Amino acid sequence: MSESTPICPQCASEQNYFDGTFTVCLECGHEWDAASTTSTQELDVKDSNGNPLANGDDVILIKDLKLKGSSTVLKKGAKAKGIRLVEGDHEIDCKVDGMKIMLKACFVKKA
Ligand SMILES: [Zn+2]
Repeated sequence: MSESTPICPQCASEQNYFDGTFTVCLECGHEWDAASTTSTQELDVKDSNGNPLANGDDVILIKDLKLKGSSTVLKKGAKAKGIRLVEGDHEIDCKVDGMKIMLKACFVKKA
C-alpha cells in the first residue's frame, strides 16, 4: 500500500515506526537511521586519477601552479592537508604552507 515503507535491515519486517530520530522495528527491536541512507548529499569530486576525494583528505599537487594575483608558485609535489570540498569553479579549499588556497581537483592526487 505505502510506497515507502521502510524494511528492517535486520529481519526484513515492515512492522516498524519512526520515533523522530530512528526507525524502530516492532519485530526485533532493531533501530536504524532510515532517512540518512537515502539523503546523504556528498559532493562528487575526483582527483586526477579518478579517485574520490572527501573532506579531510590530504592531496598532492601534480603540477606547478601559479597563484592568481601573486607571484607565488606552488610546486608540484606540495602537500595540502585536510582539504575541504566546495562547490564552484574550483572544488577544493585547503592550505599549503600556511596559505589558504583554492584548487581544482584535476591538478591534485590523493596523498
Ligand atoms: Zn527487525
